[in-house]
Amino acid sequence: EACLAQIEAVDGQIRAFLQVTAEQALAQAEAADRRRAAGETAPLLGIPLAIKDVLATRGVETTCGSRILQGFVPPYSATAVRRLEEAGMVMLGKTNTDEFAMGSSTENSGYFPTRNPWDPERVPGGSSGGSAAAVAAQEALAALGTDTGGSVRQPASLCGVVGLKPSYGRVSRYGLVAYASSLDQIGTLTRDVEDAALLLNVIAGHDPLDSTSMPAPVPDYTAALTGDIRGLRIGLPAEYFVEGMQPAVEAAVRAAVEELARLGAEIVPIHLPNTDKALPVYYLVAPAEASANLARYDGVRFGFSAGAESMLENFRQTRGQGFGPEVKRRIMLGTYALSAGYYDAYYLKAQQVRTLIKRDFEEAFQQVDVIAGPVSPTTAFRIGEKVENPIEMYLSDIFTISVNLAGICGISVPCGFDEQGLPIGLQLIGPYLGEERILRVAHAYQ
Ligand code: GLN
Repeated sequence: EACLAQIEAVDGQIRAFLQVTAEQALAQAEAADRRRAAGETAPLLGIPLAIKDVLATRGVETTCGSRILQGFVPPYSATAVRRLEEAGMVMLGKTNTDEFAMGSSTENSGYFPTRNPWDPERVPGGSSGGSAAAVAAQEALAALGTDTGGSVRQPASLCGVVGLKPSYGRVSRYGLVAYASSLDQIGTLTRDVEDAALLLNVIAGHDPLDSTSMPAPVPDYTAALTGDIRGLRIGLPAEYFVEGMQPAVEAAVRAAVEELARLGAEIVPIHLPNTDKALPVYYLVAPAEASANLARYDGVRFGFSAGAESMLENFRQTRGQGFGPEVKRRIMLGTYALSAGYYDAYYLKAQQVRTLIKRDFEEAFQQVDVIAGPVSPTTAFRIGEKVENPIEMYLSDIFTISVNLAGICGISVPCGFDEQGLPIGLQLIGPYLGEERILRVAHAYQ
């Protein structure tokens, strides 16, 4: 009730939610009360959470922030959502996102932009901007987001909350509407690191419904939160402190690293030499995969249909009216990159360079346990500031996308504020399935 009251009070301005499922939430809360009264325990019994609208929720409209999925009510829930429900979650509603998770500001939502609770003239980041804003504005205790190129970590950083992107395959993608299948991963937005560990405990683990989910055992992530990081080697990549980044961001991140040293970690300068290739590689691979994944929206199977007479005309009009400009841009980029004659020059080449980026991390993790750096080169920017310039918007992903290309894990944890009082995030990157390490360091720091 407190969360619903807070949503009622602030969401008219913040607009974190595409849909609030108040009635269902209250029913779930009552059911949780009954379970508790009966002596039952479950890790999230009665805990109110928000779910990014790219995750399928049984019986609850799931739009991916797109007009083309308006009215689509999935007959099943994503595995991560189902596991939260089994653990006792109360679902408050579905949060806003850039259309099909394509964006860094939530301005590409087909419905409305979400505002940053720290300054409503500014973006919350994206694409999980609704989830990050909901947690920052205390509308939900925590939320699920998804991270294909930074979409959990970057909005967490811009909204001053904790954002965890697990390793590829750590959390089942079943029921996560695909954007770029080799990069997508479900993550958490929480107020602190312990909550991130608690949620990961529930959602992680193999799922027979997702062949890319890892059949590795799930540790108790809260057990990793010992507070002790003495002797841990933390790498500081030279390539992550570039010209053009906001001075306050660099200062806050460097101060955070000093704090880690004070806590007993050893700071080791390292190099990730292929960092400058991550953006071009990502913006080939992600649109290529997206163009294939989005072919299914044909005006017949899901959601919106333009209702034209002939099949081809209906296909054209449904996609023409249903998709927004950024989604169309990516479908065109991806279709071009995958065309006969271009495949080798673009997609294949990008995959080769992706391997080099992955190797950079493998070599770095021979020398260090965790890598530290910024999440985003700037704090929250103004609504409208970058919408006309997609390249500039893409540049804000520079420190987050390599982690997705390499399939490893990362966490954003608040580490200070700029001159205007806007939050700054510290990014901690771990090796494949190294979630315990980054959670431990983030928790000790926080
Ligand atoms: N900003 C990146 C993009 O637009 C990442 C988005 C994401 O992680 N979903 O593709």
